[in-house]
Amino acid sequence: GSDVGVEGDVSINEEDAEDDLLGGLKIGDTSDIKVPDRLVDQVIGQEAAREIVMRAAKQHRHVMMIGSPGTGKSLLAKAMSHLLPKESLQDVLVYHNPDDSNEPKVRTVPAGKGEQIVEAHQEEARKRNQMRSFLMWIIILLVVGYALLMARQPLLGIIAAGAIYLVFRYSNRGSDAMVPKLLINNADRQVAPFEDATGAHAGAMLGDVRHDPFQSGGMETPSHDRVEAGSIQKANKGVLFIDEINTLDVRSQQKLMTAIQEGEFSITGQSERSSGAMVQTEPVPCDFIMVAAGNMDAMENMHPALRSRIKGYGYEVYMDDTIEDTPEMRRKYARFVAQEVEKDGNLPHFHPEAVRELILEAKRRAGRKDHLTLKLRDLGGLVRVAGDIARSEGHDLTQREDVLEAKKRSRSIEQQFVDNYIERRKDYELGTSNEEAVGRVNGLAVMGGDSGIMLPVMAEITPAQSQEEGRIYATGQLQEMAEEAVENVSAIIKKFSDENMSEKDTHIQFVQAGEGGVDGDSASITVATAVISALEDIPVAQDLAMTGSLSVRGDVLPVGGVTHKIEAAAKAGCKRVIIPKANENDVMIEDEYEEQIEIIPVSHISEVLDVALVGEPEKDSLVDRLKSITGKALEGSTDS
Ligand code: ADP
Repeated sequence: GSDVGVEGDVSINEEDAEDDLLGGLKIGDTSDIKVPDRLVDQVIGQEAAREIVMRAAKQHRHVMMIGSPGTGKSLLAKAMSHLLPKESLQDVLVYHNPDDSNEPKVRTVPAGKGEQIVEAHQEEARKRNQMRSFLMWIIILLVVGYALLMARQPLLGIIAAGAIYLVFRYSNRGSDAMVPKLLINNADRQVAPFEDATGAHAGAMLGDVRHDPFQSGGMETPSHDRVEAGSIQKANKGVLFIDEINTLDVRSQQKLMTAIQEGEFSITGQSERSSGAMVQTEPVPCDFIMVAAGNMDAMENMHPALRSRIKGYGYEVYMDDTIEDTPEMRRKYARFVAQEVEKDGNLPHFHPEAVRELILEAKRRAGRKDHLTLKLRDLGGLVRVAGDIARSEGHDLTQREDVLEAKKRSRSIEQQFVDNYIERRKDYELGTSNEEAVGRVNGLAVMGGDSGIMLPVMAEITPAQSQEEGRIYATGQLQEMAEEAVENVSAIIKKFSDENMSEKDTHIQFVQAGEGGVDGDSASITVATAVISALEDIPVAQDLAMTGSLSVRGDVLPVGGVTHKIEAAAKAGCKRVIIPKANENDVMIEDEYEEQIEIIPVSHISEVLDVALVGEPEKDSLVDRLKSITGKALEGSTDS
């Protein structure tokens, strides 16, 4: 039924549907699920994009897709080509032009006719050649016979025979040149073409004419034979897909625009010095639907005229990164597993428990409460790795443990690096051996988008070396962010502390795990806590890690990647972790960590200090003073 969301040998347990990771779907394994025939029906989520693709296919309109990689843009573009009528497909032939061999002629015929025409020409050429060589031998016989018998000049006879032979050979080439080249052959095509021109160079996209090393002397390949179709001509009556459209050079974008406007485009040699550059064909049809894709930035950097061209004659659609987690959607994700297994063709189908584990991973990767990730290329990768493991283990079905193992193995490079780093650090403990330390705070960062790492921040306060002002010194490339964090915190410090920051130098050391990766802003409560601890000489608890951004008013603002950060803190052995209250709903940590670590959501720096600082009397008075000056009291005091 339609509300089941999937078809095949399946049924639904309505009572379970809400709580079950499979949405109540009852299957023996994923082979029970029927994969839809139409590609467009295999798309999971992306309802808006799906509808637009179907409409645009009917109306022959261009589409621009904006969204993250691996969310189904090229899948949808391909699905669109399957929706186009195959009746209108054409073959394209290029002919020698007897008036100007550098301007080959172009003819378009219905699909399948092209092969016949070329064969007919070849047959004719073959017959003509036979005729010619028959004629040649007759003439040679006559001439040689005459030379021998009548003139008694055998040498002359041989020379004459050779000359006649050469004349025939040479003029023969002319008749070969008459055979047209089948530039585009759609004879066996079942669906309209789909051409992916992502990252293609000019020749591959716009067509090219090959260089001829024997340009003269009667040895050359006729110019029409050297013409090669590009993606735009191959996509005629179909779909031309270009991802990362902004990376296309401006000249190519302009040509593309012309092609879209004219619906036809001459092929010429793309490298200027080549003999191919002298050749330019008559226009070749390129009546395609353009599907341009990219992320938000890409769209902004795209040639404005091209963008407005596509927009003006088509649709613009956003791809979703996540979708709401409903029982029906979970059932579709089960179908997704079936799809990926069948597409690969070599993987064992999945046991229901293995599918549940995968859907749990889709929840986790969404990074958003009650949502599933739509970055399905990556999830498909996990399906393949899990299936490969199952096969190598000799399992008939892919099991839950195979998925768990796959998750371990398909860690990103960054995650592997981080795990290594943590391992190494555990050996000669930089970390949490002491229970408390002045000026030292465990910060958290994300590397490569999906790997958290714990990085301590250390602050030390010394009397200012310069007469005029206190300075801020930071190691690594984090000077700027350190300055900003300290500036924000000094506005707060001014209000409650007797210490005068302008008479002090602040040294901040970040233990860095490697190049880049550390997102500075999310460390600003960490820096602030380290500085306050150093300044007031109050120790910080070391079983604690934190992430959060700090405003000048002392508010703790939300940051990215909390799930990965919390997991990193747990892995590093922390018992507690501070996160911004505004991020509370983004927490999607794996079960195994939930017991290991306590999550403490906060909204103000005073709460951070309350949790982080150790030592009752000093700390309490500090936190009290801080609390008393929150909010309005800080306004207007930021300029120091
Ligand atoms: P994009 O073009 O957005 O980078 P693709 O369309 O190339 O992503 O997706 C790669 C693969 O991931 C697809 O071939 C398909 O197997 C899977 N996939 C991605 N998005 C979806 C989706 N929305 N529904 C089903 N499968 C998807």
